[in-house]
Amino acid sequence: TEQALHQSEKLRALGTLAGGIAHDFNNLLAAVLGNLELATRAGVGGAADPERLARFLHNATEAARRGTALTQRLLSFSRQRDLAAETFAPGDALRAIEDLVVRSMAGRVAVRYAIADDLWPIHADRGQFELALVNLCINARDAMPEGGDVVLTAANAGAGQVPDGLAPGDYLRIAVTDQGVGMSEAVRQRVYEPFFTTKAPGEGTGLGLPMVHAMAEAAGGTSAIDSVLGEGTTVTLWLPRAGADGSQAAAPDVGDAEGER
Ligand code: ADP
Repeated sequence: TEQALHQSEKLRALGTLAGGIAHDFNNLLAAVLGNLELATRAGVGGAADPERLARFLHNATEAARRGTALTQRLLSFSRQRDLAAETFAPGDALRAIEDLVVRSMAGRVAVRYAIADDLWPIHADRGQFELALVNLCINARDAMPEGGDVVLTAANAGAGQVPDGLAPGDYLRIAVTDQGVGMSEAVRQRVYEPFFTTKAPGEGTGLGLPMVHAMAEAAGGTSAIDSVLGEGTTVTLWLPRAGADGSQAAAPDVGDAEGER
């Protein structure tokens, strides 16, 4: 719970940081372009002015150097969040965030847990997993301004019950369903883009669903969104069952997938 809160603060900080960086970066690019433009003018034609030319080139170089320093900041921040996968019981993790989720519903939305009690273990970064579920529940709350129910389901899905595109095997299916505003097809197609949000500035970072999807893929699974405008949304996570030795029983080529991270 503490960790999930801490993680969501970090995520918000990342959003703010990234938003600020995008803005600063644009200003620096404008400075680079502007000075190159001036340098070009100072350097062409018979009236070349070496001093002015040198100054504009110096300014452009300085601005570009500051741009590099900015991206370094963003990279080192995201490296801090490197994933640490472990094998754990998803039911325990879901129960650990229940209080936090209920408190996040602002009293207006009820949360219902429908979790099977024989859930297979999964292999993932537990903090990221908990944060993903908190994010999904908060999105569900935001989709129901008039109130309603959020249903969190978790069940084992044996081979043959998983979507196309996943390696064959056993998966856990975890879903968050609301009866909220839903998404248009145009919105649904963009929600995995980082920083895509339809919320007011300061209310949405647009990082929730990209993070949810990245967590699922890092664990060897995937996520899917079903939504009907005006009726509601279900976001489903498919996560491979962890083998007895902590490996992922579902994904035979998981060694490669982990090597990419
Ligand atoms: P944020 O919530 O900060 O906007 P997300 O990446 O979590 O970022 O979501 C992106 C967008 O997807 C939201 O702004 C909203 O338009 C849409 N969305 C996400 N979850 C839901 C949901 N449960 N119902 C309707 N729309 C949703």
